[in-house]
Amino acid sequence: MTYSFDAPVSQSLFDRAAVVTPGGVNSPVRAFQAVGGTPRFMASGTGPYLTDADGREYVDLVCSWGPMILGHAHPEVTAAVREAVSRGTSFGTPGADEVALAEEIVARVAPVERVRLVSSGTEATMSAIRLARGFTGRTKIVKFAGCYHGHVDALLAAAGSGVATLGLPDTPGVTGAQAGDTLVLPYNDLDAVRAAFAAHPGEIACVITEAAAGNMGVVPPVDGFNAGVRELCRADGALYVSDEVMTGFRVDRAGWYGLDGVTPDLMTFGKVMGGGFPAAAFGGRRDIMDQLAPAGPVYQAGTLSGNPVATAAGVAQLRLLDDAAYAALDATSARLRALVTEALAKEGVAHRVQTAGSMFSVFFTDAPVRDYAAAKTQEAFRYTAFFHAMLARGVYLPPSAFESWFVSTALDERAVERVADALPAAARAAA
Ligand code: PLP
Repeated sequence: MTYSFDAPVSQSLFDRAAVVTPGGVNSPVRAFQAVGGTPRFMASGTGPYLTDADGREYVDLVCSWGPMILGHAHPEVTAAVREAVSRGTSFGTPGADEVALAEEIVARVAPVERVRLVSSGTEATMSAIRLARGFTGRTKIVKFAGCYHGHVDALLAAAGSGVATLGLPDTPGVTGAQAGDTLVLPYNDLDAVRAAFAAHPGEIACVITEAAAGNMGVVPPVDGFNAGVRELCRADGALYVSDEVMTGFRVDRAGWYGLDGVTPDLMTFGKVMGGGFPAAAFGGRRDIMDQLAPAGPVYQAGTLSGNPVATAAGVAQLRLLDDAAYAALDATSARLRALVTEALAKEGVAHRVQTAGSMFSVFFTDAPVRDYAAAKTQEAFRYTAFFHAMLARGVYLPPSAFESWFVSTALDERAVERVADALPAAARAAA
């Protein structure tokens, strides 16, 4: 299938970018590699809309891959950022905003007794793994196929997100030594976890899992999966690390933990907590976190960690995310899901809309998707047609069938109507 390049300014920017940047992008999935066509270079965003460099407006259902939960250029977050910038942008010392952000996280998420701020989700998971190994004195880690935890060497095995989109089993540059202690198990399969502990008693430092998987498309944990993993970890003395970089502060004020109540030993956060700036975190049990330098011997550091502008944005955003905001996100998500289902059903297109809180995605298959193997059997070519039909009608979806869609509180009636208007043609294209 070929797509017209009706985005001349984006195309010329992409051509320039391709000269100076590998693949023309600074993060792979942005390149539209899976869906083809010209990636849209966005020039601005306001509320639920993005405007590209050609001046075309889109309803945004990607929200910068999660962070922009209040929509773009929210006036209160923007004001907090302006105020922070006016005081200076980085000091390399402790500051008040980072304390406020840490307090906000600890107040919302009960298992987090102490938290360390970093600048990306990748840093958060990398540091959590190091800490788990340091605390337990063990080397092996368990991850699940199709879960993505950032581009940490040891976690780039059967990873979701862009790694899934590009169809990579793993990546050159990760040595056998770096990945050799990683056991990759099928998601939602407690028997596999049980077998791993039986095969490696006392050797597994931690099991890391997305609290609800969103990086192979949305695949929520089946009933009892997270709790079962938690119990198996406890029985063996391993740590249960819940990666809430995507779900944290998005699906509930306390993230996925707020919905399933399973208590992890360590948790990781990013995206929403930074208000659109590079801020992320890992936290959890006090006795484990106190192993971190300078309180303890496990080293971890960062020049821009707890940056005053990023933390001011994060505090402002989190403080606006009250119960009413989460109820609104849930309602908007339910409405969009119903519209998508209605349009695809009308055209007789086999599909499943899967949800985790307000996160959702569409799989072009008729069987439930519970793991990565099932996610890969979907008819992704239908998503490509669907994606481009929506894009042409001013709706920006993730340029991959292996990603979650994200809603914002800014999605008002007008924006939802625009999605509804685009759907019938997209459903026809997918048929
Ligand atoms: N963990 C999860 C669950 C994610 O979804 C992501 C990013 O999509 C990461 C970790 C990595 O975060 P970052 O891209 O900020 O490094």
